Amino acid sequence: HLNETIDSLERICYNIAHDLRAPTRSMQGFAQILLDEHSASLDDTAREYLNRIAASAARNDALILDLLAYGRLGHVELPCSRQNLQRQAEAIVRKVSDELKTPGVVVRIEGPLPHVWANPIALEQALTNLLTNALKFVPPGVAPRVTVRAEEFDSRVRIYVEDNGIGIPPDQHQRIFGIFERLHSDQTYPGTGIGLAIVQKSVERMGGRVGVESEPGKGSRFWFELPRATTAGPG
Ligand code: ADP
Repeated sequence: HLNETIDSLERICYNIAHDLRAPTRSMQGFAQILLDEHSASLDDTAREYLNRIAASAARNDALILDLLAYGRLGHVELPCSRQNLQRQAEAIVRKVSDELKTPGVVVRIEGPLPHVWANPIALEQALTNLLTNALKFVPPGVAPRVTVRAEEFDSRVRIYVEDNGIGIPPDQHQRIFGIFERLHSDQTYPGTGIGLAIVQKSVERMGGRVGVESEPGKGSRFWFELPRATTAGPG
């Protein structure tokens, strides 16, 4: 009975999040139209307010999208198959680095990475979120240096994403995987606080686990484990 209640609550949250997108996008769209087409008849203060409305609506939309992604993980099937981690990681690194456009960024893949037993979409999401964080949480003026590598155990592969960023106090390591848990204001480092919760949920649904080793000022090493894939199947 409890499971059914949780299921139905998750579905309601998912639908609410979905329905909130249309009004949010409409606010963002109309604010942008005013800025683009009626800018000449507005004074600086009005333009500043419109910019703030557009930015708040964009933030709301990012939050809703993350909530939808998180909610979806609770109820969709995640069929797993043999995934070429090296190829996936190369594609994600290319995409994330292209979007970032910060000079001096170095992302290194210590390959060849092994094959894993995973759902391709969930794997992409987990790796993308860890990489995006690794590139984001650096001190001002420091160029991010990130390494992706893997270690093979008997039937598991542990994938590491290591950065030279601000680091995380040990007593916060558990907390940051919770939904909406953030250690910084949105002004210092923008974000929704859902990224790591998505990583944890995706990895656990694929039969793996996640963790982090980090200290303030010494960078972070996030990891997740997935079943190793042989040509015959997992393990
Ligand atoms: P978001 O990135 O949207 O804030 P996440 O759930 O991805 O949300 O991360 C939660 C919090 O964990 C972040 O706000 C940050 O405080 C901390 N964190 C995550 N990744 C890193 C990292 N690579 N280095 C330092 N802190 C991190």
